[in-house]
Amino acid sequence: MPFAPTLILTYTFVSLLVATTLVRIWLARRHVTHVQANRNQVPAAFKDSIALDAHQKAADYSTAKTKLVIIETVVQALLLAALTLGGGLQWIDDIWHNMLPTQEIIRGALVICSAMLVSSAIDLPFEYYKTFVVDETFGFNKMTPAMFFSDLIKHSLVGLALGAPILFAALWLMQGAGQYWWLYLWVIWSVFNLVMLAVYPTFIAPLFNKFSPLKDENLKQRIETLLTKCGFKSQGLFVMDGSSRSSHGNAYFTGFGASKRVVFFDTLLERLNVDEIEAVLAHELGHFKHHHVIKRIVMLFSISFLGLALLGWLINQPWFYTGLGVTQISNYMALILFLLVSPIFLFLLRPMMASYSRKNEFEADDYAANHASAKDLVKALVKLYRDNASTLTPDPLHSAFYDSHPPASIRISKLAAYTS
Ligand SMILES: [Zn+2]
Repeated sequence: MPFAPTLILTYTFVSLLVATTLVRIWLARRHVTHVQANRNQVPAAFKDSIALDAHQKAADYSTAKTKLVIIETVVQALLLAALTLGGGLQWIDDIWHNMLPTQEIIRGALVICSAMLVSSAIDLPFEYYKTFVVDETFGFNKMTPAMFFSDLIKHSLVGLALGAPILFAALWLMQGAGQYWWLYLWVIWSVFNLVMLAVYPTFIAPLFNKFSPLKDENLKQRIETLLTKCGFKSQGLFVMDGSSRSSHGNAYFTGFGASKRVVFFDTLLERLNVDEIEAVLAHELGHFKHHHVIKRIVMLFSISFLGLALLGWLINQPWFYTGLGVTQISNYMALILFLLVSPIFLFLLRPMMASYSRKNEFEADDYAANHASAKDLVKALVKLYRDNASTLTPDPLHSAFYDSHPPASIRISKLAAYTS
């Protein structure tokens, strides 16, 4: 008879895996039903600005994406079950064990890379379908299959170049740094993330997109004035060729400290007028002024600290391995099991994170309303919702659970209160 904690872990894991999968499917189906039920009528607040056919296009686009998510959810749950209790990880480990019986760190890195390769290989068809069937059908895709695969190769190489040193550091610390290995790893991980934030806009993002300085003098003038008024310094205003991949529009800030820059998608500049662009930028400035980025970083560092401390304890518990389908105990197996399984245990945090993020959006909107024009922000948002075919009528529960941004109607009615 297996040791009791083993069984408890197995049953807990299976129950949570089934429960989270069912909840996700249920939410997705609710969303599709709600969106379709509201397909034939533009919500009253948008009657003048969004035509019925654009509203219907948004409904059908949301439905197509959500249906794909349902299939993906099932496939991912099956994959996770196969890798853990199905013996997949143990099988991968056995193969590398036969080839490299003594080199534990190298073997560990290879086992982890193999498991990640399997997961990405299974995600790939979904990403391909989303780009070349769903987005293509709705006229958003601008990529060619050649670009898709060259992006994939570039992403993998960058991921490998950045991930391999961290992985080796982790395995090396686990093997030789004593009982506080997880604490040292947390320090390295945190420093790595801060360095990434600083170098990403200047060194990594340009590998995938072209960034050119903003040329429109009139717009530049307006933006500089807004930045000065808000007491904000940036390393420059850039236009990104987002249109080479997709026709969705956006604007964002990246980096921190001295490498901070403002980036506009070319698609955004094409569609919005100067006043609207200024309002969108003021919203983004609101995120900075409320320290949303720093708060998020502190939160992620706290979560990874707790996670690593937990892993530091679990690594010494035999039931942690046997309860999840692994018979041969090793440091690297603890690491990969933890990475694969923790999202299931953290699923209930999702609505809390989403709600926190929506609170941040309201704060940024409030800032924008006070430093630019709320009316122009509303106009910009309506255009973005329309051109990105985002649904105006999400299922309220689905939205509460997942959405990082508040539903359009709530957000716009709050902003409208500033103008009246
Ligand atoms: Zn925002």
